[in-house]
Amino acid sequence: MAQKRKVYLIIGGAGFIGSHLCDRIIQDGQKVVCVDNLITGSRNNIKHLLKNKNFSFFKQDVSEKFTITGPIDYVLHFASPASPVDYLKYPIETLKVGSFGTYNALELAKEKKARFFLASTSEVYGDPLVHPQVESYWGNVNPIGIRSVYDESKRFAEAITMAYQREHKVETRIARIFNTYGPRMQTLDGRVVPNFIYQLLHKKPLTVYGTGKQTRSFCYVDDLVEGIVRLLHSNIKTPVNLGNPLEFTILELAQIIQKVARTKCRIVKKPLPKDDPKQRKPNISLAKTKLKWKPAVNVKQGLSQAIAWFEQQM
Ligand code: UDP
Repeated sequence: MAQKRKVYLIIGGAGFIGSHLCDRIIQDGQKVVCVDNLITGSRNNIKHLLKNKNFSFFKQDVSEKFTITGPIDYVLHFASPASPVDYLKYPIETLKVGSFGTYNALELAKEKKARFFLASTSEVYGDPLVHPQVESYWGNVNPIGIRSVYDESKRFAEAITMAYQREHKVETRIARIFNTYGPRMQTLDGRVVPNFIYQLLHKKPLTVYGTGKQTRSFCYVDDLVEGIVRLLHSNIKTPVNLGNPLEFTILELAQIIQKVARTKCRIVKKPLPKDDPKQRKPNISLAKTKLKWKPAVNVKQGLSQAIAWFEQQM
């Protein structure tokens, strides 16, 4: 007899990473219930799935109490504004979805006896004093700074997730997701990869904030989704870093992106946003050894895919 399809509730499923995860789970032959309030997600990201009988979508803000009828095997919480520009635009919504939203999602997982997966972030390390960042590092976060609405709500989300694991024996998994890029990032979400691609395609100067010597490490979205699926089905109950450890300065990224797009652009310097982390690079030893996972897409391949997608949107 064919195995019964599992039901995956993907909260934030119309967002950038959430929608790629919906695709993956549907491709794997399972059922997806996607919930999103669409403040930063978009119906466009899931429109190709709407007619699939294994996929359903509900517009719902999970910061308010909500329920889903029928069995659920996995609750994956990917809902939150995630770009610095977005979470500064929606500070209260960001705090609410990380706190009330995570609480509501955990309550649902408890009720349904589902496994819970939290999309956490490298932002829990703040402006890190340990480099590369390893999961055992507790971070260096300004608790009242402008980024704190995101950083602290995700730190709270991790804390309540661990408490539900200890107190209510909910099966939980936590990914700390580092900078990720690819198709379906919003053109104007303010992050460096979509900004640079948009500027290149519109022949505008590339905006480099501060000296451009700050570093980030960029993971292609398909690699990340593979890591998420492996972590979900693993037995690791503590947070796991998922990201690409290849580290670039923002100025280097500006050079690489111009090479990949075969376009030359001027660079203009803009002020560095407050509390902008000076360096970021994941230590992925845990994921490598326990999940047998490491990124496979190199930055040139990944950026070409992303550029091609942005071109189609123009
Ligand atoms: N950044 C930049 N130009 C831009 C957008 C971002 O120089 O047009 C810088 C930003 O200051 C940060 C890095 O690029 O140091 C990554 O920013 P992003 O907003 O993509 O994400 P973050 O890693 O800060 O969450």
